[in-house]
Amino acid sequence: MTNKKVTIVGAGLGSLATALRLSHQGYAVTILEKEENAGGRLNILKKDGFTFDVGPSFFSMSYEFHELFNSINEPIPFELNELNPLYTVNIAGSNRVFQIYKDLDKLAKEFEGIEDDFERKVRNYLKGAKEIFHDTEYRVVKKNFDSIIGFIRSMATVPLKHLPKLFRTFWQELERHFDSEEVKIIFSLVAFFLGATPFNTPSVYNLLNYTELQHDGYWNVKGGMYKIVEGILPILAKKGVVIQYNTEIVKVVVSKKQLTAVVDQDGTVYESDIFVINADAAWFRGKFLNRKKFTEEKLDAMEWTLAPFTIYLGVKGTIPGIHHHNYFLGDNFRDYADTIFRSSVAPKKPYYYVNVASKSNPDCAPENCENLFILCPVPDLRVKPNWDDAETLATEIIADLSERVGYDITNNLMTKTVYTPVDWQKMFNLYKGSGLGLAHGLNQIGAFRPSNKDEELSNLYYVGASTVPGTGLPIVVIGSKLVTERINHEHSII
Ligand SMILES: Cc1cc2nc3c(=O)[nH]c(=O)nc-3n(C[C@H](O)[C@H](O)[C@H](O)COP(=O)(O)OP(=O)(O)OC[C@H]3O[C@@H](n4cnc5c(N)ncnc54)[C@H](O)[C@@H]3O)c2cc1C
Repeated sequence: MTNKKVTIVGAGLGSLATALRLSHQGYAVTILEKEENAGGRLNILKKDGFTFDVGPSFFSMSYEFHELFNSINEPIPFELNELNPLYTVNIAGSNRVFQIYKDLDKLAKEFEGIEDDFERKVRNYLKGAKEIFHDTEYRVVKKNFDSIIGFIRSMATVPLKHLPKLFRTFWQELERHFDSEEVKIIFSLVAFFLGATPFNTPSVYNLLNYTELQHDGYWNVKGGMYKIVEGILPILAKKGVVIQYNTEIVKVVVSKKQLTAVVDQDGTVYESDIFVINADAAWFRGKFLNRKKFTEEKLDAMEWTLAPFTIYLGVKGTIPGIHHHNYFLGDNFRDYADTIFRSSVAPKKPYYYVNVASKSNPDCAPENCENLFILCPVPDLRVKPNWDDAETLATEIIADLSERVGYDITNNLMTKTVYTPVDWQKMFNLYKGSGLGLAHGLNQIGAFRPSNKDEELSNLYYVGASTVPGTGLPIVVIGSKLVTERINHEHSII
């Protein structure tokens, strides 16, 4: 018997994880990737003696990686490193730098004199967040849905006590538990830097603070995040998976309710029994399948996460006032959050995240140097299509950072690279530069999110950030499990 052939378009993490699972089961898998290397947003930049993680710098739910490698009987091919403190937060106008620890008694000390009775309040807050996490994990997140009715039925099994959370925002939930602006702002960063604001994110996502502070915490990878990809590639090679780089799919061939082939930029045709699309699941449906629900107009009307404006700096010297994971915020949180989605000009006094991998991973910078990755969430290209002012924004961020950490970064720069939302769109076909893909409002999750199974073509599937269950490294790994279950069920070779 010849193995069924699966072709995956794109080599992001969702693709690589799906290829691991399917090849383990005996499918013959080929991956076609437009860029010259694998990983998609989980990528690496090497320049002037420095090595940078291009996108993700840490993740929650590390056990999803264990599940993936257990499922294919392989040891996990990279070393996980738990973060504690999880990150530090600098708020403009305050000399205080908050260290966010997983240990709640230690965390309470950080908020002494700011939030009375913090430890009792945070335990109570996290209790609710924990309940909603565990009550939805298998009913909503780790489940394939074939219809909206099926999804609503599953949602109806979530205990009724969570119902009020559907009608509150993330921020309103925080207001029920805490009084100080500092605590509310810090606990809403998880929403903000995941591409939305706490004022328009549903309160159920407070469960993210439970995953961060109590459940599994945050992790990164020894030697840099790209070790994940470098660990996966030899296993794929061993299992016979072929990856073809510099191959952009620009056309599809459809016949008798099946996708029969995809065609690359040179006109080469790739036939297959089954296709999995790892490019954005909403964009692909509109661009290549001409689906009416996914025209540019309809896509523009959907909710997308903020776009990344990223800066990669190699700096001479060691910077004292900075840690591995740092947030730098202004003193106008609500105004900033209110305008950031709507503004067609670059943000004034930008809020940003800085990752200094060299603090715990000296190999990624020359001796006595630091490598800095800066992420500033900005409006996507629907709102701000022109990035001619990129240098001005980068200069402003670097000057602000220099001042706040007390180190002249500008005059010690050894290398600098800036990616605007235009670059992010071009590199990985991210719709209008949105960094994390479709947002996760209640109208865009479960059966309301573009499905991992095509509506019309019986051999076409999707995996990655804009299909189910959603975005983020562990979540696309869950997505790879869900799509594999579907393929096994509908095209089993066993
Ligand atoms: C700046 C930034 C920071 C982030 N930080 C974190 C973080 O700290 N933690 C976390 O968990 N998540 C983070 N994320 C989110 C995380 O990176 C994504 O959710 C995840 O990597 C998406 O994986 P994916 O499977 O959807 O594939 P993608 O990474 O989107 O890869 C898709 C691949 O398909 C290729 N492709 C597209 N179109 C075609 C075509 N027509 N033909 C051939 N190939 C094609 C692309 O080139 C790309 O390689 C971050 C994202 C960004 C942008």
